[in-house]
Amino acid sequence: MSSTAQIGVTGLAVMGSNLARNFARNGFTVAVHNRTAAKTRALVEEFGHEGDFVAAESAKEFVDALERPRRLIVMVKAGEPTDAVIREFAPLLEPGDVVIDGGNAHFEDTRRRERELRERGIHFVGVGISGGEEGALLGPSIMPGGSPESYDALGPMLERIAAKAADGTPCTSHVGPDGAGHFVKMVHNGIEYADMQLIAEAYHLLREVAGYSPARIAETFREWNRGRLDSYLIEITAEVLAHVDAATGKPFVDVVADAAEQKGTGRWTVQTAMDLGVPVSGIAEAVFARAVSGHAGLRAASRGLAGPSAQPLEGEAADAFAAKVEQALYASKIVSYTQGFHQIRAGSEEYGWGIDLGAVASLWRGGCIIRAAFLDRIRAAYDARPDLPGLLADTGFAQEIGAAQDDWRAVVAAAVAGGIPVPAFAASLAYYDALRAERLPAALTQGQRDFFGAHTYRRTDREGSFHTLWSGDR
Ligand code: NAP
Repeated sequence: MSSTAQIGVTGLAVMGSNLARNFARNGFTVAVHNRTAAKTRALVEEFGHEGDFVAAESAKEFVDALERPRRLIVMVKAGEPTDAVIREFAPLLEPGDVVIDGGNAHFEDTRRRERELRERGIHFVGVGISGGEEGALLGPSIMPGGSPESYDALGPMLERIAAKAADGTPCTSHVGPDGAGHFVKMVHNGIEYADMQLIAEAYHLLREVAGYSPARIAETFREWNRGRLDSYLIEITAEVLAHVDAATGKPFVDVVADAAEQKGTGRWTVQTAMDLGVPVSGIAEAVFARAVSGHAGLRAASRGLAGPSAQPLEGEAADAFAAKVEQALYASKIVSYTQGFHQIRAGSEEYGWGIDLGAVASLWRGGCIIRAAFLDRIRAAYDARPDLPGLLADTGFAQEIGAAQDDWRAVVAAAVAGGIPVPAFAASLAYYDALRAERLPAALTQGQRDFFGAHTYRRTDREGSFHTLWSGDR
């Protein structure tokens, strides 16, 4: 077999085959391979007309089909299968070749794999890919992490197949070394969880407090999507809410079991944030909200617990409340992104990645699930001030959130009074208030720690570390 393929994809389930087709449709010759060879044949039979594919049955054939330095994308189930594939292919590769993991790997695994392959002179690139199967085919948001040399070999191809933002910029750029790309993808997913939960809370309030029907809420979201909340998630939420179940004639949302599932990247975001000491409370509440929803037994046993009785609002009062929910949603969304970008900055500092936060906002502007008009603003904020301590330190965001805060409080208060759970709205508001507080009760926490554990404290009026001889000291 002659070595003609510019790129190879191994792992031809939904993501791998769509990515391979995307490369082929963009004029690249693509070698394709899958553990179960029937899938390789099926892909070429069905989509061979779309471009130039080289079907390889064995690992050796696959590697031999690739131009040097080889670029091969591993698109298999994350975890042990990725290691198994690397073990199979690594002995067939040469120094300078580039192995790309496009799966949802944990960034620590990516760091380990990069280290191991670097010892053999092979570049390992951990690539976060967002946009689901449609994105993989039509243009995803791509977050590559690896050596600068690997980006030289790979970047121009990724830029061709990536989504393009409204200004035509490809939604990909070199994020940083080793695990940086998968780290940023992980936080992207954490923000996605928060965005989804905030929208769900807005829906819940519009339904229960404003008394809106799902169809009316769909209309409201469509309207919001024409403003500053313009985003893919608001757009698809309107579609979901407008959908009527064909079997029952009921709103689709009313026939779906209310137990949200998760694959784990939201959880990783929160676990990693804990390790880094970064408060991602809005994202954490979103992960916990899914967990609460899934505890059917606990929920059933708690259904009789006392709560307030409230009547939904009507007419103008309902519409006025809906307008406040838009403010609360926007303000909480600013907090989610503030927290997510804080986590990326902290990860970048911890691992020495040198991540450009403005560039991250830029590559999320198209192709991915959290794409939103709002990201242009975030990019501009970081471009203007790369050392911005946090998004809320940006004058524009500070003004907007300040203008929303009265309504945000009113919405959280109405939720509390009405017994509607709004964990992400409330946690985001508490974060906002904690950041702006002149003094926090953490001073008392320090006093308690010094009392029971002689943990010492710092003072506001003097340098140094202090311990008080408490009467409880023995
Ligand atoms: P998947 O269901 O996660 O994985 C199936 C693929 O993995 C098949 O090609 C399978 O080969 C291969 N595989 C499994 N174990 C293997 C092993 N031990 N050795 C070799 N190959 C093995 O596929 P997917 O949904 O297309 O996702 C691929 C990757 O992309 C995953 O890491 C996923 O997390 C990530 N991702 C998915 C999405 C999405 O929307 N689905 C979005 C972004 C990222 P056989 O055909 O031989 O079984």
